[in-house]
Amino acid sequence: MKKITIFIIIIVIGVIGFLVLNKVQNKNEENKYRYNDLTKVGYNDDEINYIYSKLDESNINILLRYSYQKELKNLLEHKDFKMNNLNNYLEMKDKITIDLDDIIYIVNDNSYKEDITYNEFVISMIKEEYYLKDRLDRYIDYHTKNTKKTVKEVIQNVNANLDYEFYTNTSSTDTSKGTLMIVNKYYKLDESYVPDDLVDVESKYGANKQMSKVAYEAFIELFNDAQKQGYNLYIASPYRSYQYQTTLYNNYVKSDGKKNADTYSARPGYSEHQTGLAADVMARGNSSLNEFENTKEFKWMKKNAYKYGFILRYPENKEYITGYIYEPWHYRYVGKEAAKTIYEKNLTYEEYYAYYVDKK
Ligand SMILES: [Zn+2]
Repeated sequence: MKKITIFIIIIVIGVIGFLVLNKVQNKNEENKYRYNDLTKVGYNDDEINYIYSKLDESNINILLRYSYQKELKNLLEHKDFKMNNLNNYLEMKDKITIDLDDIIYIVNDNSYKEDITYNEFVISMIKEEYYLKDRLDRYIDYHTKNTKKTVKEVIQNVNANLDYEFYTNTSSTDTSKGTLMIVNKYYKLDESYVPDDLVDVESKYGANKQMSKVAYEAFIELFNDAQKQGYNLYIASPYRSYQYQTTLYNNYVKSDGKKNADTYSARPGYSEHQTGLAADVMARGNSSLNEFENTKEFKWMKKNAYKYGFILRYPENKEYITGYIYEPWHYRYVGKEAAKTIYEKNLTYEEYYAYYVDKK
């Protein structure tokens, strides 16, 4: 009997002891700074201990303004994380789904400010399809000077370098991009640049001139398919040397003035014709390029050129981007993949290049 009583007493003491200790421990956790609030938001004990090891009380208060942060550890241990910016990181994270890297970049860059309208502008830019992180400062500058432009226009115009005047901030184009190289009023070719694959254009396809082989072969395919359907095309002007462009441009300037000449003729080094990848096209029998727009051949080209890797390089209503008047006759070979995207998304080559070529 005695043994059993003692045994029961020991058990009872054990149970009471366990309960008391447990209660004390719970009490301790509850006493930790805002433990219950952190639990309510959804943090588990491991995460809470981690939070205590990283954040002081004022920063815990900041953390608790926001919903559960799944990526908290990645944020706090990011190489560019700054504790002073904690609230801005979290606020931005709350409003927009973008990479942590982008959030940290934007916040650290001071592009994220206390001004709500400003933040909303930055956030709406980031959501835009063609937003380029590296150009953020330029977007903001451009926006400041052009407050009536929409976010979409700001992105589009800066991507096309329109925040710079034509023929300013120019640089040599990266010819290693091959068929994707860009030549326009910001990117030029050296005087000595000659495509290394020039071939003669056969008389059945056009004028007795030269063109880059890759573009020429694509054109032959296009030409033959068009002909089978009853459309007769003619290459009027493909490759032009730097020297030839110099003569051409100077003559236009003499007869029409520099300002006008610049709208339709490129300055030497800035002509796409020097790449060998561009060609002015007509319908056979046309006596001038201007006649091409009203031919059935042009309608066919407009619909089909991209299937062979060509784009209408200077489209209507995009003059302010390309810097050239609408040229129904001027086609540029960029390859099938690029041409398809440009056609389907209705982009100029300037916009395509910034986002799809230069970025990579
Ligand atoms: Zn042309």
